[in-house]
Amino acid sequence: MRPKPPPNYLAGYPANLTAQVQQLIEQNRLADILTKKYPLAHAVRTDKALYDYVQALKGEYLRNTGQLSKVAFDSKLHVIQNALGTHTNISRVQGTKLKSKREIRVATVFREMPPEFLRMIVVHELAHLREREHDKAFYQLCQHMEPEYHQLEFDLRVYLSHLAANGRPLWPPVAVDTPKAPKTKTAEPTS
Ligand SMILES: [Zn+2]
Repeated sequence: MRPKPPPNYLAGYPANLTAQVQQLIEQNRLADILTKKYPLAHAVRTDKALYDYVQALKGEYLRNTGQLSKVAFDSKLHVIQNALGTHTNISRVQGTKLKSKREIRVATVFREMPPEFLRMIVVHELAHLREREHDKAFYQLCQHMEPEYHQLEFDLRVYLSHLAANGRPLWPPVAVDTPKAPKTKTAEPTS
């Protein structure tokens, strides 16, 4: 059985650009380029931290959009099925009122990424609170929140292509709370 080809995260970008990325992957040079450009991982590791992070950005740019009922990392979410994350607007009738429930879910792969990529995905999902489609108005709003939005989305897709080609994760989690093994004393030669 032939393995399924990995999703093409760069579909829609100019062919010369995707060929370049492909070449960098084959030459094993992409990881270096990405980690030089984005040396640090962000520290948003939990759903609570993600919620606070999203609320802060929302408060800055979209204060008048309705409350978010849920913000979470989602391990079942496959990045870019068609979206980069998901945003749902569940409408429920509560009593006589139609209540709209807004949720933002971010694929778990974003937990181990540089701050720039996290910001990009959150900006993307927040923009969907106002604009449903990926149209001009949508991307304008994204750019309003993050002027580098387009470059970041491209770089993120480049990283996802690296992962899809079985590249190693470039921003693996740093062990924070694990107790350190007792240090073995290195004997200093005494004179
Ligand atoms: Zn979208």
